[in-house]
Amino acid sequence: MNGYAGTILRVNLSTGEVRKEPYPAQVAENLLGGRGLGIHILYTEVPQGVDPLSPENKLIASTGPLSGLLVPGAGKMDWTTKAPLTGGYASSSVGGHLTAELKYAGYDAIIFEGAAERPVYLYIDDDTVELRDASDLWGKGSITVEKMLKDRLGEEFQIATIGPAGENLVKYACITHDFGRQAGRGGVGAVMGAKKVKAVAVRGTRAISVADPERFWELSRSMYRACKEAEALEAWQRYGTPMVTSWCDEVGALPTRNFQQGAFEEGKSLYAEVMRQTIVITDKGCFGCPSPCGKYSNAKKHGIFVEGPEYETIALLGSNCALSDIQDVAYANYLADELGVDSISVGNAIAFAIECYEKGLLGPEDTDGLDLRWGDPQAVFALIERIARREGIGDLLAEGVKVAAAKIGGGSEDWAIHVKGMEQSGYETHSATSMLLAYMTCDVGAHHNRAWAITYDLEAGRDRVAPDKVAKVIELQHIRPLFDALGACRLQWVELGIDVTQYAPMLAAITGLERSWEDLLLISERIWNLTRVYWAREIEGFGREWDLPPGRFYKEPATGGPTEGQLTPPESVQKLLDLYYEQRGWDQNGIPTPEKLAALGLSEIVR
Ligand code: SF4
Repeated sequence: MNGYAGTILRVNLSTGEVRKEPYPAQVAENLLGGRGLGIHILYTEVPQGVDPLSPENKLIASTGPLSGLLVPGAGKMDWTTKAPLTGGYASSSVGGHLTAELKYAGYDAIIFEGAAERPVYLYIDDDTVELRDASDLWGKGSITVEKMLKDRLGEEFQIATIGPAGENLVKYACITHDFGRQAGRGGVGAVMGAKKVKAVAVRGTRAISVADPERFWELSRSMYRACKEAEALEAWQRYGTPMVTSWCDEVGALPTRNFQQGAFEEGKSLYAEVMRQTIVITDKGCFGCPSPCGKYSNAKKHGIFVEGPEYETIALLGSNCALSDIQDVAYANYLADELGVDSISVGNAIAFAIECYEKGLLGPEDTDGLDLRWGDPQAVFALIERIARREGIGDLLAEGVKVAAAKIGGGSEDWAIHVKGMEQSGYETHSATSMLLAYMTCDVGAHHNRAWAITYDLEAGRDRVAPDKVAKVIELQHIRPLFDALGACRLQWVELGIDVTQYAPMLAAITGLERSWEDLLLISERIWNLTRVYWAREIEGFGREWDLPPGRFYKEPATGGPTEGQLTPPESVQKLLDLYYEQRGWDQNGIPTPEKLAALGLSEIVR
């Protein structure tokens, strides 16, 4: 199979058995790989209704047909599982070098099933695949363990780890790789922890075959040249994702004090220029990346080095908790990485707790005397520790804001900022109907990466509810997640503007299978619909109610910044869903119809 290693590793942690299986060619053809393979295995192999933290759940680490080849940013790996945070579908992508290394070792994917009795790590060195004792690593931080394993096995091993939060089954625990990149969302790290897998260490020395080397090299050179000649490259490489902080602050999209407003009065101190001047020491990129957006920083005030903070972390652990010192945000980022929690969800959980405290729903008796106030870095640091270790109030917050609000009550459900149980990432959506809809309908919960539609809101009228605003969300929901099936980064297209349709001839040169850009979009739509029917299969009563946004955005106007006084009225929210379901060919409860599934060739899988 050109472009693929051709083999999947199936690791049964209950029995210790490791099997090598051929990659299913039909899946490669219909769903490509990465998240396409992930949802296929989740849907067809994991029985309906399993507890996400039980041995019956599976965790699938999957590369794509571009991974490990000289295609810009082809270093992405997808982690799919049934989500502990939401009870539905989880797929979280991570960059770095692991995905290339896994393919060089001869494997496209790893399926973890069952659960080990004692902590283990998976050791892969080409043909040698072993489960090794990890007792001495258990309890230690993600970054610490990555360093320990590199010292033990060799610098060339690529490693993914979980921290104490994964071991403690925090519902939004992440998987860390490359000293600071995360598969962050949905609780993939908690599933790894439940299976008692502390780490994966991989070294590979093989080649990946391509169908038409000459055509491949020509396209590869042309894509890299386009990236290097892009006007936007200089600023992107200098600042990375934090480049967007000032823009969000200016247009009223920077979440502030638990999404009550979209601009932060002290936001300037978090802008990318300040970060670059005060803490950044070097740039850092993933495999094959011509535009390294990672920033490696030294927060001298706290004596730590950290990769980041990325924009999302600045938004959720910075402005959303009203922290105004970039060094404090960098330290909070470091704690989240080392302890192994998703910085987006944990920032939401902390802001939610502060607001509950401010409104008298939590008091010192609930927080072991911790005084929760906006802008207090010590409170933020203490809560990250307590959540990761499930201590005191941290035990409740470790369940996610949806569960915490149900327990705390008092109207806090309206300011628990989540969709489907997943906390919202870094865009304030009182008045941005496309972005709001993108969060409402995202296939993992309130995450931006499937459809970053906020710029379209600004171009096309932020509070309009109209077919074009819905169509833009759907268009992006097909293009952006396609990269997670290909195993490549989307940011060369998003940030540098390289021609996205070039990925079709590139894929054809690699696999030998001619497919147009439209064919690839159809595959992406197929995956999108399969993830939707997975939700419907797993959650009793799943439908329109599950697509509603947090009450804050349709009940309470924004309290400051450019969108002060604005909200999206409930009837507009419903209208957005009406239009969305209609354009998707789903019924008015948001469930794909049998005709739609048949047209996408999914009837065989979804019986
Ligand atoms: Fe990785 Fe950033 Fe490069 Fe994408 S642009 S491959 S995320 S370094």
